[in-house]
Amino acid sequence: MKSLLILQQGDKYTSSITISMIIPRFFFLFFVLNIPFMSSSQSTIVTKPHLIILTTGGTIASVNGQPMIDGPALVQAVPDIAEHATITVETFSKIGSSQMTPAHWLRLAQRINQLLQENPNLSGVVITHGTDTMEETAYFLNLSIRSKKPIVLVGSMRSANEISADGPANLLNAVRVAVDENSIGKGVLVVLNEEISAAREVWKTHNRRVETFQSAAGFLGVVDPDQIRYYREPTHPHTHQVTFDVDSISTLPQVEMVMDFTGFDPDILTYFAERDLDGLVIGSFAGGRISGGMLEGMKRAAAKGIPLVIASQVPEGRIIGYPSYPFPVVFAPDLSPKKARILLLLALMKTQDMAELQSFFERY
Ligand code: ASP
Repeated sequence: MKSLLILQQGDKYTSSITISMIIPRFFFLFFVLNIPFMSSSQSTIVTKPHLIILTTGGTIASVNGQPMIDGPALVQAVPDIAEHATITVETFSKIGSSQMTPAHWLRLAQRINQLLQENPNLSGVVITHGTDTMEETAYFLNLSIRSKKPIVLVGSMRSANEISADGPANLLNAVRVAVDENSIGKGVLVVLNEEISAAREVWKTHNRRVETFQSAAGFLGVVDPDQIRYYREPTHPHTHQVTFDVDSISTLPQVEMVMDFTGFDPDILTYFAERDLDGLVIGSFAGGRISGGMLEGMKRAAAKGIPLVIASQVPEGRIIGYPSYPFPVVFAPDLSPKKARILLLLALMKTQDMAELQSFFERY
């Protein structure tokens, strides 16, 4: 029988626990029976790389719509992980990722930075996460974790009870990526469907299919049965190369996002202009172009001094040659509006100067 060392922080396991005590019956399908837990007081010779798996919820942690399962049960479902790493697992949250907020991002980044600092021998961190907002959490962490060590987000498109559930294989692959030395220094990675994507580039593109995560520039690499194979490097600064320090703050600047559409009603932006916002991202048409209604609405928001950033709703290609507007505006040349929002809220911790904000969007 394979063994898997699981030390759950905050909990003490003093004896072996049978899986049937802690997991739904459906999940039995994936299990090797009775994998032992060990308490943190027991000693062990660690010969494999040490990883921490933080579980946050999402489809990868759900069975047939039932409440999200705990981190240890999720990891136990994939006994092959023990061949690659010694695992510490921590249940961070049990939510669908549509319920993630910037407050969760902040707490998650702070926890990961703390774990990396407290465990100098740690090889990396894997975060299980719903796919709906995985690209946002990934990009936030990409700009706020100060380490070269692999930080890998993983989820699944099918829950554990479905035929061809992809969660167990994705989790195993995420662990393999996290312990691979070629993953060091590549920033935050997203692993699904045997593909490795860069946090800055990845988009969820399909409501249902397992190949949902795509990047216009292609995958960084793939998870083959015999090896992790990288084909390129991320090209923008990330993790250890950036200076956004989120560890000493308790809240992030408040930045909202509004998408343009035909016949946009400027009063929508009046609502935002009257709130005490720190910044606002406008999801424009291609090339940074906006409707007449949006132009009028943005004037109102600009008059209130709210920093405005335009990012294109169109998934591919940059905004080339910024259109001029009768008020100051920053352009996100090739970030999605959601990711432009993340960069804006971090950049606003450093400056409100529009030219300086523009330089952040050129570099990151
Ligand atoms: N509802 C899920 C979520 O938490 C979808 C998924 O995980 O794939 O994002």
